[in-house]
Amino acid sequence: MPARAVGRFAPSPTGPLHLGSLVAAVGSWLFARSAGGSWLVRMEDLDTPRVVPGAADEILRTLGRYGLAWDGEVVHQSQRLAHYEAALEILLKKGLTYGCACTRADLARVASAPDRNDPATPGVYPGTCRDGRPAGKPARAIRFRVPPGFFTFEDLLLGPFSEDVSAAVGDFVVKRADGPFAYQLAVVVDDAAEGVTEVVRGADLLSSTARQIALQRALGDATPSYAHLPLVLGPDGTKLGKRDGALPLPALSEERARSTLSLALRILGQNPVDGTPGEMLEDARRRFDPRAIPREPFRAGGI
Ligand code: GLU
Repeated sequence: MPARAVGRFAPSPTGPLHLGSLVAAVGSWLFARSAGGSWLVRMEDLDTPRVVPGAADEILRTLGRYGLAWDGEVVHQSQRLAHYEAALEILLKKGLTYGCACTRADLARVASAPDRNDPATPGVYPGTCRDGRPAGKPARAIRFRVPPGFFTFEDLLLGPFSEDVSAAVGDFVVKRADGPFAYQLAVVVDDAAEGVTEVVRGADLLSSTARQIALQRALGDATPSYAHLPLVLGPDGTKLGKRDGALPLPALSEERARSTLSLALRILGQNPVDGTPGEMLEDARRRFDPRAIPREPFRAGGI
């Protein structure tokens, strides 16, 4: 018998939920609950300069308002630093991390150097400190030594995906120069620790998945299944930010909550019934058809 599904929603508490994050919450809830599985909520609050006080509680109240009930305790990444440190230690023992002395300015200079025959692709770490830091330069960030070759997975919605992380990204940061553990490391440690079997999230994170699989292999963790949901774009075609279409709880009338949830379900290609948020979700859960989820982003006309 297949293992019981464990899904999760992992918002960063940098502001109130917006339509895009509501779609991720509802989509991950539908995948997990329609399979009779559990649905966990994790606050990704490691990036302390960006965390907004009170945002985590507001997100939880908003989920409650939409009838999205989670299982167990909400996990806060800020309470789990010892686990990330332990993972870093495993990687270090395997020789898979190194201290990097490069500043942003150093990296920008390498990427734009005119005399390079092989100009570095912007954003790809050129490997400057891979075999040792320049003399006298202290380590700032810690990088993961990415093994060469392709990492491949089958997205449940978008199909096969393959990336040579060493060429497309290079050795990436697992602990930042300004202190926090990087999202890529923390998400892998937590998905494994919480027994997550399916990662359902916005398509903006598709490009992180191969990096996460590389880390899972290095740490000996299982790889969950992945489904990347349609992004919600603003009227100008860019990803909807926290400032656009935010769904602040106090302003949300019952009427508005229903119509917003109905829109989120339609963005997911489901055909919502009229009713309270709880009734809409329960009906959508019973009739959930992942094949109806559009592969294209949704362009919001003004919310
Ligand atoms: N915390 C991330 C975000 O809010 C999501 C991470 C994930 O689902 O893997 O964009």
